[in-house]
Amino acid sequence: MTNKYLYFVANWKMYGDLKALNSLDKVIKFSKSIKQKKIKLIYCPPSTLINSLSNKLKKTKIEVGAQNSHESDKYGAFTGQINSKMLKNVGARYVILGHSENRQLGEDNKKINSKIKSALKSGLKIIFCIGETLKEKRNKKTNQVLSKQIKMGLKLIQKKSSIIIAYEPVWSIGTGLIPKPKDLIKSISFIKKKLGKKPYKILYGGSVNSDNIKQLKNINTIDGFLIGGASQDPKKFIDIIKKTIN
Ligand code: PEP
Repeated sequence: MTNKYLYFVANWKMYGDLKALNSLDKVIKFSKSIKQKKIKLIYCPPSTLINSLSNKLKKTKIEVGAQNSHESDKYGAFTGQINSKMLKNVGARYVILGHSENRQLGEDNKKINSKIKSALKSGLKIIFCIGETLKEKRNKKTNQVLSKQIKMGLKLIQKKSSIIIAYEPVWSIGTGLIPKPKDLIKSISFIKKKLGKKPYKILYGGSVNSDNIKQLKNINTIDGFLIGGASQDPKKFIDIIKKTIN
């Protein structure tokens, strides 16, 4: 790991209710015991829990993010949608954009670019997900895909310091599979090269758990982890953090 901020981002996906927030008491207690200053814990619950969670976390250093936002930063007739301004209003400081589960629902690079611009305008920080599918990996298209996602996703974006990249190979999300260290190192280095001089933070996401973290934490070009399934269990989440920082 590098000597920079180390991020642990919990993506709760479409899980969790008000009762589930009680399970965070353990994480809050643990976060207060962390000696290292440069650790950032961010919880991204479903939108229904953002307000309650940000109230609960007010006196802690744990921050709250959303899992998606609409591309318009204005109010409007978009039934069922939530924009970045509304998310900020209820306590979100970050938003995950470009997640493969949303790309699979039809979000393309152009739309993700609009969403990033809009969320930046509202003052949110972005966790921008990129990654190749299994088919693209098998066809040796990983670099081509990453390159296009970066180029189109970040097109004409000025406020680069508010963007964190999350490299999440689609075939790794929720499958228990993680890339071979040499492949992961290669992809991270390719992403860095594509991003140019700006020192972006780059997270890895995809089936991170308390076993494979021992291997992942040795890749010192990664600035942290985006954690789905394992983040829903406070014990597993804490275990991942402990094994990374100790
Ligand atoms: C994710 O949803 O971003 C993710 C990485 O999920 P999981 O950890 O469950 O693979």
